[in-house]
Amino acid sequence: MAGIRVENIVKLFGKVRALNGVSLEVRDQEFVVLLGPSGCGKTTLLRIIAGLEHADTGRVFIGGRDVTALPPRSRRIAMVFQNYAVFPHLTVYENIAFGLRMQKASPERVRAQVDRAATLMHIEGLLGRYPAQLSGGQRQRVAVARALAVEPEVLLMDEPLSNLDALLRLEMRAELKRLLAESRTTTLYVTHDQVEAMSLADRIAVMSTGNVVQYDVPMKIYQEPADTFVGGFIGSPPMNFLRLPVEGAQAKIQTLTLDLPAAPQGREVLLGVRPEDLEAHPQPQPQSFPAEVLVVEPLGPHLLLTLAYEGQHLKVTVPPDFEARPGQTLWLRPQPGRLRWHDPGSGEALT
Ligand code: ATP
Repeated sequence: MAGIRVENIVKLFGKVRALNGVSLEVRDQEFVVLLGPSGCGKTTLLRIIAGLEHADTGRVFIGGRDVTALPPRSRRIAMVFQNYAVFPHLTVYENIAFGLRMQKASPERVRAQVDRAATLMHIEGLLGRYPAQLSGGQRQRVAVARALAVEPEVLLMDEPLSNLDALLRLEMRAELKRLLAESRTTTLYVTHDQVEAMSLADRIAVMSTGNVVQYDVPMKIYQEPADTFVGGFIGSPPMNFLRLPVEGAQAKIQTLTLDLPAAPQGREVLLGVRPEDLEAHPQPQPQSFPAEVLVVEPLGPHLLLTLAYEGQHLKVTVPPDFEARPGQTLWLRPQPGRLRWHDPGSGEALT
């Protein structure tokens, strides 16, 4: 077992700066998710760690060993890709054994490792089948078993669930979490799906245009986004950002004044607040401000309201039996302790 460390990785593709000096550490046995929108550099970083791509500058360490100059086969890693290419002409057993045979492992070791990986993935009953005789989820498990069979120090996964349909994807997400927790293999997992990231990760590294913009445990990323990009990317619907005037060290929402942790650069500040952290009331309340209901969307477990406050839109979630209709005025009370303040220029959180 081993951790991963990358230091100051820069990667250019022609004029495109795919990675802009990325440093990141994944601890031994940790499950870290690289999360970010399409094109932010996730796959490139993973491929550099795997040795499939070379960085222009920077170093890669696996288990404390500098592997920057080593080819993929000498890095003790295993990868599971998006299309989880299982070989159609090989049985499940031979698919799982593939990496071991490439390593010229002894027949005893092949058997022992295939059994171990198949048991871990709960596919020991499928070893004689061919991939065409498996469901998508079972095929996915074969791909993970094949990766784990070689006992890699580090497992790298690139959107391994993205080819599955929505329901299976949800099932496999929970499965994968359980199975990988059992295997205790250090894992770096790429996705652009924030729910998948929140669900699986010990820590999430949020990436934007070639940089890691925040690296922390999921709840911290959700509750205390480092900037408006992270707050807007994580959460569905995302965090609201309300532009408010500042007087001294306070922000004003109509008659409501809220203390700021620090003075922003200019005369305005962004209030970051999650849709579930604004309490809606039909009547005026202390510490509340009025907003007009624009849209009411029943989503099952809650209603999603879109409201307007002085021309700015806000999303608020309320219980399913809450009565609201377009045109109505509601009073919104921000939950103290749940408010985030950001600089409107840089988007960065004020601390
Ligand atoms: P996605 O979620 O769409 O896979 P990503 O975050 O994994 O995106 P990368 O595939 O790492 O992003 O790409 C980062 C940037 O580098 C993008 O602008 C991409 O167009 C560019 N890029 C990646 N590979 C190459 C390549 N082989 N040649 C040229 N440009 C590339």
